[in-house]
Amino acid sequence: MKNLWNDKEAEQFKGELAQRVYTSRLLGQDTRLVLHGGGNTSVKITETSITGRSEDILYVKGSGWDLVTIEEAGFAPVKMAPLLELAKLESLTDPQMVNELKTSLTLATAPSPSVETILHATLPYKYVDHTHSDAIVSITNTDQGEAHIRKIYGDQVVVIPYVMPGFDLARLCAKIFATEASDNTIGMVLLNHGIFSFSDNAKTSYDRMISLVNQAEAYLAAQRAWEITMPPSTPSAPNIVALATLRHDLSLAADKAMIVTRDTSQIANDFVHHPDVAQLSQQGPATPDHVIRTKRLPLLGTQLNSYIDHYVRYFNTHAPQAKDEKAMLDPAPRVVIDPDLGLLCAGQTIKDAFIVRDIYQHTIEVILRASALGGYQALSAQDLFDMEYWDLEQAKLKKGGTQPPFTGEVALVTGAASGIGQACVTSLLARGAAVVGIDLDSKVTQIHDRPDYLGMVCDVTQPERLQQVLTATTHRFGGLDILVLNAGLFPGGCRIETLADEDWRKVMAVNLDANFSLMRASYPLLKLAPNGGRVVVIGSKNVPAPGPGAAAYSASKAALNQLARVAALEWGADNIRINSLHPNAVFDTALWTDEVLQSRAQHYGLTIDQYKRNNVLQTEITSRDVAELAAELCGALFAKTTAAQIPVDGGNERVI
Ligand code: ZN
Repeated sequence: MKNLWNDKEAEQFKGELAQRVYTSRLLGQDTRLVLHGGGNTSVKITETSITGRSEDILYVKGSGWDLVTIEEAGFAPVKMAPLLELAKLESLTDPQMVNELKTSLTLATAPSPSVETILHATLPYKYVDHTHSDAIVSITNTDQGEAHIRKIYGDQVVVIPYVMPGFDLARLCAKIFATEASDNTIGMVLLNHGIFSFSDNAKTSYDRMISLVNQAEAYLAAQRAWEITMPPSTPSAPNIVALATLRHDLSLAADKAMIVTRDTSQIANDFVHHPDVAQLSQQGPATPDHVIRTKRLPLLGTQLNSYIDHYVRYFNTHAPQAKDEKAMLDPAPRVVIDPDLGLLCAGQTIKDAFIVRDIYQHTIEVILRASALGGYQALSAQDLFDMEYWDLEQAKLKKGGTQPPFTGEVALVTGAASGIGQACVTSLLARGAAVVGIDLDSKVTQIHDRPDYLGMVCDVTQPERLQQVLTATTHRFGGLDILVLNAGLFPGGCRIETLADEDWRKVMAVNLDANFSLMRASYPLLKLAPNGGRVVVIGSKNVPAPGPGAAAYSASKAALNQLARVAALEWGADNIRINSLHPNAVFDTALWTDEVLQSRAQHYGLTIDQYKRNNVLQTEITSRDVAELAAELCGALFAKTTAAQIPVDGGNERVI
């Protein structure tokens, strides 16, 4: 592990807190030390209060901050005096502790101080660094963990047996440290948890962390337990309906829609096919950041009986994303290992699922290294249980909070690169759905750069390509809940007598046949949507009121409309709802260039503005108007509605 300290960089960080920011970021850069908000750091600074009193303040990492991106505002300033008084208490419940920490802050708007705050306060050093180093966790999750640690470090570190993070751990550390620390002590190892280093300056504390962890890594290497070796495997190619079935069942167990993503990394695939995977994977978590339980799901059909289900509950102090978002404690697994489906990671959002994935990749390394060192041995079931029902976690659960309505759901939008399709993507993302956008235009891959959006170039008239899209959707997000059929062609005016076969067929192929293919291919997935499948068809005013010169367009949209009505009849029993929107005169789409608008307006003797508002309500209809209604059709308001056809046209006399 490289020491990343750079004198030039460090000079930019002036002051004691700024130096704390700098080395915290250095720690955060190495995922072998901390992952996703794990680890915490602090600095003790003497300040003058508003009334002129001099007081010692502990600046400790606040919840919701990640070391790699932390700023000065990410450190919660807590008065040292009350912390040191608290540390003398015999006991303190977690809710009491949380209350005391909050009321000892000097800044009302500060983030919540870490639950390891009191531990930081009691260590008699200015700078304290704490990580969950993979190497330390690997070594201490073995039956000879403590012996190995003592062999590696001698009197350089004080060793603390495993205790759940919180007041009891702080108290135990203070007690052992007071009796066992010597002039040689530069760190503290917490078995099954991680490591602390400290010093009176930021650089030395950081240097010590790196040097201590390097000693652990070197020890593992010397014991031939550092390099990961697994029998090579070939990637599994799972059936997407089996994947969506798993997601459905997992969502039922969680009592909410869940995103399930496949980890296709080499290490994940090799682990899934490891001959000892059942035994290796069922032994518990790597660190108290997350709990992996070995309880089986109660249900899940015959196939699932073969699943090795794995429960990752990452929570607490060290995973602020998980902590600050919704309650994580439900009975559904967060990691599922299956020889056919691969390694699957679940979360309410793709962000959560990716956190699980990253944690589990490190867990695999920890398990394999610990096994190579003499046998992986994680915390006892009792410790895991205690952690799971930890007061702090319960408190978090109660806090709850509202989430966007489509959180955990997956939508597919066709024709997503521009206009109504692009607006639908935005409306669905805003409601918490993960969205796959497809389009012939490669711009579709770039309209959003965020993990919950996947853009794919796709010619919807190619059924094989549509199948690839559904496969990619299911591999990345676990299934499909919402389908928005928007892609369509609107060729310029052409009367029947001059309409070529080829042009007729082209319009039918895109506006009708492609939607039929996609509906048919999506059905097995929509049927497995935890909250019921939903299809929105972007129709046209031309369905109820066709126009001259648009024979192919009007006929294709009318046929699509009839297809949707039949689907509503056939799929209603599968809890799939299909509703149609009939927009008209939506001018902010790719079809309508300024020139076309100008010439159409002139044709009717209107200004462009008059032309745009040429409807009963005299209002302009935008892509966003259509998209918002399309999204709402998939929501609770229309939960009891199927086969509806709703105009979005400002009122059209021919339709009314
Ligand atoms: Zn920790």
